[in-house]
Amino acid sequence: MRILVVEDDVALAQQLRVALEAAGFAVDVEHDGEAASFAGSAEAYSAAVLDLGLPLKDGLSVLRDWRDAGRSWPVLVLTARNRWSDKVAGFNAGADDYLTKPFLMDEVVLRLRAMLRRTAGSAAAVLAAGPLQYDVVQGRFSLLGQSLQLTAQEHRILAYFMHHPGKLLTRADISEHVYARDLDPDSNTLDVLIGRIRRKLGGAPQLVTERGQGFRLVASDVEG
Ligand code: CA
Repeated sequence: MRILVVEDDVALAQQLRVALEAAGFAVDVEHDGEAASFAGSAEAYSAAVLDLGLPLKDGLSVLRDWRDAGRSWPVLVLTARNRWSDKVAGFNAGADDYLTKPFLMDEVVLRLRAMLRRTAGSAAAVLAAGPLQYDVVQGRFSLLGQSLQLTAQEHRILAYFMHHPGKLLTRADISEHVYARDLDPDSNTLDVLIGRIRRKLGGAPQLVTERGQGFRLVASDVEG
């Protein structure tokens, strides 16, 4: 899943990027309100982490821009302020949760996962495709009850397939939702990653190639 992080403190933004990438998310970072408003309105994200005090445009205005553009994904607001009136204003502007600085990186990850789970509906806390399970809250895969070890990139790709079981996902879909924009892979790289995931899955479930179109996660055994 792809997350937009908006934070003008460059060191803090980098800490957030590292923590969220380690947790299996693809991360784009913006450092000012105008760039954040544009990115969030133009690109496909699963959630955002948004600082309120930003140059060029304040965080609440950015959040209103996103909501006005029809972006309904969950937003975790970060603020140095801890005044009740700021929280009320944030929730009124469409924030889903709040974190006051300073905070632990683990807490950002936990809050983000909780927001994503609420968005997906509580029934979807564990997604399954045959013997493969994905715990959305913990961000963990298991295959036949055993923990499945994946690299961060493999994790992002497989998590995206788990959210769309049986559906044809094109290369464009995958790169748009799985990769941060500065990491767009060429198609050979995607094939290599898909190949590695296939070997780890051992054929159940299968990542089926739809020639010239994309890939599909199929839970049951299929021929060919
Ligand atoms: Ca700030």
